[in-house]
This record gives sequence, structure tokens and C-alpha cells, in this order.
Amino acid sequence: MGSPASPKTITYVFPIYNESGNIKRLYEEVLIVTADLDFGLEFVFVNDGSRDNSLQLLRDLQAEDPRVVVIDFARNYGHQVAVTAGLDAARGDAVIIMDSDLQDPPGVSLELITQWENGFDVVYAQRRTRKDSAFKKFTAWAFYVMLKKVASIEIPANTGDFRLLDRAVVDEVKKYREHDRFLRGMISFVGFEQTAVQFDRDERLAGKSGYPLSKMLKLAADGIFGFSTFPLTLISRIGAITALLSVLGIVYAVAMKLFVPSAVVEGWTFIVISVLFVGALQLMMLGILGGYVGRIYTEVQNRPLYGVRAIYGSLGSHETSVRAKVDVR
Ligand code: UDP
Ligand code: MG
Repeated sequence: MGSPASPKTITYVFPIYNESGNIKRLYEEVLIVTADLDFGLEFVFVNDGSRDNSLQLLRDLQAEDPRVVVIDFARNYGHQVAVTAGLDAARGDAVIIMDSDLQDPPGVSLELITQWENGFDVVYAQRRTRKDSAFKKFTAWAFYVMLKKVASIEIPANTGDFRLLDRAVVDEVKKYREHDRFLRGMISFVGFEQTAVQFDRDERLAGKSGYPLSKMLKLAADGIFGFSTFPLTLISRIGAITALLSVLGIVYAVAMKLFVPSAVVEGWTFIVISVLFVGALQLMMLGILGGYVGRIYTEVQNRPLYGVRAIYGSLGSHETSVRAKVDVR
């Protein structure tokens, strides 16, 4: 944390995909709302393979304002990766992630900063209302209900990626390098002191959404598969239920053969027993595979085992005493 002599810096991260109609207005509004802040500022724009003249507009900004950094992607990698590149590049003591279409009102970032000054490490902006299509509202609602049911972490409803992260949280999230990224999941996952600020989400100022249904579904899948092995454990559960039902079926088939042989066609009992037995066996074995696949998946994600908020007491002396012992040998 900076000394009083060097004021703290706040980095704004803006992912940009075809935002030529919004960039100038966004930059101006952010400058207006941050004018009275006692912080150094840094603006990281990540151009995510825009096909319009966004890059030129960003470079013009950069030429005039040395606090502007422009990262130009080689192609479109998607919103979550663009934000990640912004987090990687940010040098601020706090980082604010915002959409660049003015759906996230720049004024709200001041409230995020206030809560950060109050000691919170993550301040997420939570939508009280949103001006989006009924379809988008419904799908977002359904997604959060489902996520809450299956995911291993608590992801606050009605939040996007609009939020402030303390440097400690940024450094922690930077350790998560999985390719199918769901940042708000990771940010919940790392913990720290988190709080919400309510806001009313505006309409997109200009241009059209870069999140068609296909990208939304991909994000939803990344959220669910990235933070839950529930779909895999489902195989085991269905396997167990099927096994139970097959036992009943087999008992029924044998009973028919023994007590009502006249109603049973030649060979029927054997076929029924084998079909039920093999079916249940296969599902249970798949469930076992699922258990291993889930573990392989967790290992491959290669997430850090734990994150430390602080250490109280001296680690240094302990370490030297351990080292001294080793040296003696
Ligand atoms: N975005 C991006 N890459 C993409 C799609 C979107 O960097 O492939 C950016 C976009 O410029 C905006 C933010 O991500 O700043 C949110 O996108 P958008 O407003 O299109 O999504 P919506 O608000 O419709 O969900
Ligand atoms: Mg938008």
C-alpha cells in the first residue's frame, strides 16, 4: 500500500469491442466524475479485435493523455479474456472493471471507491433495475437461479462484471489462468471482504450488443461447468436410482417366471434381467468415470490451492530457523 507521499492509483479497465460510438463519451464522463478524486488514475482500454475504428479512437486518446494505455488484441478473444488482459496490465492499488457502452454509469464507480476506502476488497455493483430486453432479463434470472443451485460458490445475483477489486484481489485472480473464464465466479471464489453497491443499469448508448445468444450461452456454461461438478455427480445419482429400479425389475421378472410361468414367453426372463442389469451397471461405471474426470478437471484448472489475505506474526524468523537446520546437515 502506497505511502502518503505517493497517492494511491486507481485503474479503470475497459473492454472494447466495436464501441466507436461510445469511446469518446465514456472517456469524457469518466474524466468528469473522477475530477475531484485524490487518486492517481490509469485507464486501460483493451481493444478486443474491433472491426470498426475503435482502435484509432483509442490511440487518439492515448496520444493526448499519457494515463491511457491501449492493449490491441490480435483478434476477438471475448469479453472475459479482454478484462483479464486489463487486470494483468493494471498497476493501480484498486482496479475498476466497467463495460464501455455506458450501461455501467461512470458515476457509480465513485460509490465503489468509497466502499473500497471503507475497507472492502471487492465492491460489486448490483443492478437494482436494468433496461434490457425481457428475454435478456429472463435468461439472466434463470442463469443465476441455476448457478445458485449447482455452483460450489456463492455468486451474487444481478451482478455483471462491473466492480472494484483491491490490488490483493487482483493479484489473487491473476493466478487463475483457466481458458474458459468466468471472472465473477473467480472473484467470488477468492473470497476477501466483499460488498455490494446498488445501481440502475442504463441502456447501451450507441452500437449493438457484442453478446449474442451464443456468447451468452458460452458464458453461462463457463459459469456452471467452471464452478460445479454437479453435472458429473448427476451420472452417479441417476446410476444409483437406475440400479434400485433394476433390482425391482429383476425381482419382478424372476417372480413372474416362478409363479406365473404361463404368462412368460420363452427367454423373456433372461433378456429382462440382462438388459436391466447391464443398463444399471453401465450408468454406475460412468459415474465412477465421472468422479475421476471431475478430479482431473480440477487438477487441469490448476487453480491455487488457497489464497492468503494476511499473515500475522513473523514468518521470516521461522523460515530462517528451518533453513539453519537444513544447513547443519
Ligand atoms: N466486449 C468485448 N468483447 C466481446 C464482446 C463484448 O470486449 O467479444 C465488451 C464490450 O465492448 C462491452 C462489454 O464487453 O464493453 C460488454 O459487452 P456488451 O455491452 O456488448 O454486452 P451486453 O451489455 O449486451 O451484455
Ligand atoms: Mg452492454
